[in-house]
Amino acid sequence: MNAPITQDVLTLPRKLPDSGRVNIIGLTRDQLREALIDAGTPEKQARMRVGQVWQWVYHWGVRDFAQMSNLAKDYRALLAEKFEIVLPEIVTRQISSDGTRKYLVRIAGGHEVETVYIPEEGRGTLCVSSQVGCTLTCSFCHTGTQKLVRNLTAGEIVGQLMLARDDLGEWPIPGAPKDETRLVSNIVLMGMGEPLYNFDAVRDAMKVVMDNEGLSLSRRRITLSTSGVVPEIARTAEEIGCQLAVSFHATTDEVRNVLVPINKRWNIATLLEALREYPRLSNSERITFEYVMLAGVNDSDEDAHRLVELIRGIPAKINLIPFNEWPGAPYKRSSNNRIHAFADIIYKAGYASPIRTPRGEDIMAACGQLKSATERGRKSRAEIAAEVG
Ligand code: SAH
Ligand code: SF4
Repeated sequence: MNAPITQDVLTLPRKLPDSGRVNIIGLTRDQLREALIDAGTPEKQARMRVGQVWQWVYHWGVRDFAQMSNLAKDYRALLAEKFEIVLPEIVTRQISSDGTRKYLVRIAGGHEVETVYIPEEGRGTLCVSSQVGCTLTCSFCHTGTQKLVRNLTAGEIVGQLMLARDDLGEWPIPGAPKDETRLVSNIVLMGMGEPLYNFDAVRDAMKVVMDNEGLSLSRRRITLSTSGVVPEIARTAEEIGCQLAVSFHATTDEVRNVLVPINKRWNIATLLEALREYPRLSNSERITFEYVMLAGVNDSDEDAHRLVELIRGIPAKINLIPFNEWPGAPYKRSSNNRIHAFADIIYKAGYASPIRTPRGEDIMAACGQLKSATERGRKSRAEIAAEVG
């Protein structure tokens, strides 16, 4: 492994969380409207003021009310008294030899999550966290060994995109020709946590991110990954409408119960039923089935054949993820030959079966390796057994 190219410790200006002001970041348009009215904005003007503030914050990336030059001076002063525009802080930034950037991000209360930026040809994907830790205990996932500390707020989820744009210098410059190539062109909710166990905050954050007059990422460029929280899948289609990825990882309930223990609550058949409805409800094209390749556990030819049988009729792409090993992990990555043989069977059955290239390995930025620094948040064996048993 190469050494990471750089590791910086960045300290951004810190605002105290108990300022008593309302943080604008993460409020939906409706919530912002209400907050502006509460602060004394006349109801008749509220819609227009939302539009103005929104554009400053989310289109131009402005953090200071004083710069909102199309608002009257005393209104700017009122805003500054009642509101703030605060992002989580970047604590450290590591840049891999392949350009991947991993940010350790501190949120209120001193908790930490990770956000990863993966540059690709002509596009770039930001992998965003939705919780500190996770309540679930998928046996191959490093986050699964950490307790849930808390859900992220909508502002902390949107804030991850904004701080990545800060770091990449990706806010428009007034007067400059519009640049259509976006550094962060896609978002995947595949960092720490189970997004569907933090549904409202994730939904509100994505509403902000998708808004055309702001960050303006279309719902087709957002992929939410779930371990299979079945009751929230239809809601995701209806209330967010983004692309869906599902951590499938096994072709029998017996194996999936161990790898993705939520399968004991909603088994493969129940999950597939919900997935069949998703493309119609969300008007999206296809579902991504994520499948982690674990040597000798779920990677046989029989598994590949069973997989194509199971998903028959669902518009799908199967994303094969070479297992990212972490210290103490109970599994090994399947060999390249095995992964290719598996991919071939799926491809011949008519499905796209890309093998995910591990990115940022030198900085431990790959899927499932993201971790919070809070070691006290470790799950006990008993807790893991309770989830698994
Ligand atoms: N909780 C959600 C999203 C976060 S995990 C979910 O489970 O879908 C994002 C993806 O990374 C999931 O498909 C997960 O199964 C996968 N993953 C977790 N640990 C991994 C590891 N060590 N190697 C490869 N993929 C992993
Ligand atoms: Fe949680 Fe997803 Fe990891 Fe499972 S794979 S423990 S749901 S983060």
